[in-house]
Amino acid sequence: MTNRRPRFGLLRASLALLALILSAPDAFASDRLQLVASFSILADMARELGGDRVDVVALVGPNADAHNFEPAPQQSAVIAKAKLVIANGLDFEPWLQRLIAASGTSPSVIYASTGVVPNLTTHDDHPGAPDPHAWQNVSNARIYAKNITEALKSADPDGRATYDANLERYDVALQALDAKIRASLASLPIERRKIVTTHDAFLYFGQAYGLELMAPIGLSTEAEPSAQDIAKLIRQIKRNNVPAVFIESAINPRLMNQIAAETGAKLGGMLYSDALSDEKGPAGSYITMMEANIKALMQALAP
Ligand SMILES: [Zn+2]
Repeated sequence: MTNRRPRFGLLRASLALLALILSAPDAFASDRLQLVASFSILADMARELGGDRVDVVALVGPNADAHNFEPAPQQSAVIAKAKLVIANGLDFEPWLQRLIAASGTSPSVIYASTGVVPNLTTHDDHPGAPDPHAWQNVSNARIYAKNITEALKSADPDGRATYDANLERYDVALQALDAKIRASLASLPIERRKIVTTHDAFLYFGQAYGLELMAPIGLSTEAEPSAQDIAKLIRQIKRNNVPAVFIESAINPRLMNQIAAETGAKLGGMLYSDALSDEKGPAGSYITMMEANIKALMQALAP
């Protein structure tokens, strides 16, 4: 029987997979402070600020869309082991309370956007709803970092000095990032500072750094744009001479490809809005994500 060896290989692989599945609920396996973050950007901030004292699991991982997230049943087991849950707030995680209820436990929940002045959307789909994408303004990310640090200090008082030191270091990096973005955008002629993205994820960014934004769908990716929405946007792009259209990392690029083709606007590449790339990608952390976005914007918009 020439196929005996491969069959044993398959058995071994199956056993390894089984072991992996059985160990999955033990995502937390140390005496560090056990944290759950609702999505990849908050998970990165929590790791930066918590350092060696914390273990962090993200519910919505890299390259995944939090708007359309449907929690898997085993994720309530991850929450059951957490001491602290870090969420964005501003209606970004409508699924979170149900997931916490399903866990049968009551971990502390903090909203990193507390204290941010929210944009209220004027877009047709949810007029007056808060825009959740506050992290796209680095000044807001500094507020997130302070809120997360306070929560870490309450949950793990022995680590207070470490958390304060981590915040000080991280905040210096955030201030440098903010200055870098400001200087880059300021170097562009005003008529070039216009872009189209799939959904309205960059309004805080545009407000903070002077970039005009258009999008065929609103604050959430749940809605599909109508043919009229798309036709209206195409007219706007042509009328305003918008130089570039960008795809977003966690969203199907089909619509943006179509809009670029119909308007003659340049396809500017990829922007990261609501999710990091995986660790080896160009946007593995909040800071490198913002840097990758600036690089893509400058490449597409510099005359
Ligand atoms: Zn979004």
